[in-house]
Amino acid sequence: MVLDRDGSFDGKLIGLLLDNSPEGVFLVDRRGVVSQVNRVFSVMTGLGIDSVEGKSIFRQANRGQLEDFLGPVRSKLWQYGFWQGSITLDLVNNKIFKGFLKISVILPKSGPIRYYLCQMARREQPKPENSLMPGNSALDSLTKLATLPVFTDRLKQAISNAARHDRSVGVIILDLDRFHIINDSLGSEIGDQLLCIVAKRLTGCLRESDSVARIGADEFGMLLSDIDEGPGAVRNSGFVSQKIYEALAIPIHLGGELIEVTAAMGITLYPQDGEGPDDLLKNAETALTHARQMSRNTYQFFSSKMAETARLRFALESSLRQAVDKNQLCLYYQPQVDLTSGLVIGAEALIRWIHPEQGIISPVRFIPVAEETGLILPIGEWVIRSACRQIAIWRDKKLPPIRVGVNLSAVQFQRQDIEKIVKESLEETGIDPKCLDLEITESAIMDDVEKAVSMLNRISKLGVKLSIDDFGTGYSSLSQLRHFPFKTLKIDRSFVHSIVEDEGDRAIVNAIIAMAHSLNQTVIVEGVETDAQLGIMRHLKCNEMQGFLFSKPVPVESLTEMLINGKRLQQAPPCPSDQAG
Ligand code: C2E
Ligand code: MG
Ligand code: MG
Repeated sequence: MVLDRDGSFDGKLIGLLLDNSPEGVFLVDRRGVVSQVNRVFSVMTGLGIDSVEGKSIFRQANRGQLEDFLGPVRSKLWQYGFWQGSITLDLVNNKIFKGFLKISVILPKSGPIRYYLCQMARREQPKPENSLMPGNSALDSLTKLATLPVFTDRLKQAISNAARHDRSVGVIILDLDRFHIINDSLGSEIGDQLLCIVAKRLTGCLRESDSVARIGADEFGMLLSDIDEGPGAVRNSGFVSQKIYEALAIPIHLGGELIEVTAAMGITLYPQDGEGPDDLLKNAETALTHARQMSRNTYQFFSSKMAETARLRFALESSLRQAVDKNQLCLYYQPQVDLTSGLVIGAEALIRWIHPEQGIISPVRFIPVAEETGLILPIGEWVIRSACRQIAIWRDKKLPPIRVGVNLSAVQFQRQDIEKIVKESLEETGIDPKCLDLEITESAIMDDVEKAVSMLNRISKLGVKLSIDDFGTGYSSLSQLRHFPFKTLKIDRSFVHSIVEDEGDRAIVNAIIAMAHSLNQTVIVEGVETDAQLGIMRHLKCNEMQGFLFSKPVPVESLTEMLINGKRLQQAPPCPSDQAG
């Protein structure tokens, strides 16, 4: 898919592609709003292009029926980036559409997923082997798949296409585990039937433009033509491999037995793992050997640094899925101090993942993965609820009330009913809403200012505080900021870093503070590490601080102790410029 740098579409090119597609194609954004449809879609459904573009796809069908359908689809999309299946849709024009739908996640270069590509056909489409096959001699007589020479030919062609368009090609070689045992014990007839079923399932996992071949007794080759370049290629082929496992995992009834098929796979990518078909196939075999040595039912990329990174990322993704259930997430708290009294008046809840093998994993590492996969939604909800429960615990201990900051991700902001979660958490714990402080970054709200303003106003009506986090790193204009109900502005720690030496940064911070004060906002500075930095922030009339100078983020027990002991910030000597002035 062709995305501009900022993740938006190259409109003209997309239009051209859509108009030339034989399938009904539509693009929907993550809220389900149709951003583009092609003519074939309009013909198939009888819905005019203008009547669907810019509207929610959900309105195109019966709601209850659609929700039943969407649940499993969403989970597949999160896991594998792809879903396909038969559908029956009740359309607004009272027509019923019956057909086959494929949905693919469009992976952005960075940040959250924004668009889904949906392709629909009237009925299940014939697989390439049925339609595009050359003469019979090129077919494997048993499975009717392509043979090695044909496969190599197609690979050559895919490579030259990819080279012209700066695209990638993936080659997967799959080897069934223990096939000879099945063949020996159940007989070759059953073995043959099994191979045919496997061939069919593999074909079902690929797109029209891809192809499957039988390249050995129990070895299959798969060609993924025209996939994204770079890390996208690793991800795409990783998805396909996952799909293949899913497809093979369904047990097969044959000869009175229930056979469970597992396989090893080796994956190579053009151009990074080889220039021509021979290199790629050879290296895929090497990767396959690796996979076989590792364990049953696994896949391996031909080693490259990028593939290793991707593998680690997949591993992170799958263990993160379990982290919530297994209680591996916990909140640390970093105290926030009032610069006049020196007292702790708040704390920011900062998530930590206590991994059984890797120890404490920083949110900087796993929050982006959580955002990309949608896992941030359950995690973010857990954070809000846990922070509220903690506030209630401190209240019950009769400790002086503090305000607890909770970070909201942009993805939560766009996809989650935060108002509802906050409302429920307040009701459940009975805490004073003022004790909850939601931190939002500029980038999360500047996407759609109008929507953000109304949402934040509704949340603010619940009585909770709202803070703008990492201020100064985004591009929000000061005049826009006026419209938001923020009580606190948090100056990003990058300014503090240089504030002692850099006069320019000092001037910016000075202006930010003046602006915030004129909007009646409290200013808190993050990342104060030295007395000199603190002195300057005091001089600039900053109200509060949070930083290693006072305390790092600490486990909840340590913060409780600080509150009990009334730990205070030492009143620093006055700043030199204070004395001068
Ligand atoms: P943030 O919201 O800006 O949080 C402040 C970060 O600055 C924390 O990093 C904190 O440890 C660090 N910090 C505070 N004082 C100092 C200092 O004096 N020196 C230095 N070098 N660093 C300081 P942490 O805990 O690693 O969190 C990083 C980011 O991860 C947070 O930035 C926030 O964007 C995100 N995050 C953390 N918890 C959550 C969460 O529950 N949900 C979401 N969506 N994001 C979270
Ligand atoms: Mg924060
Ligand atoms: Mg921050």
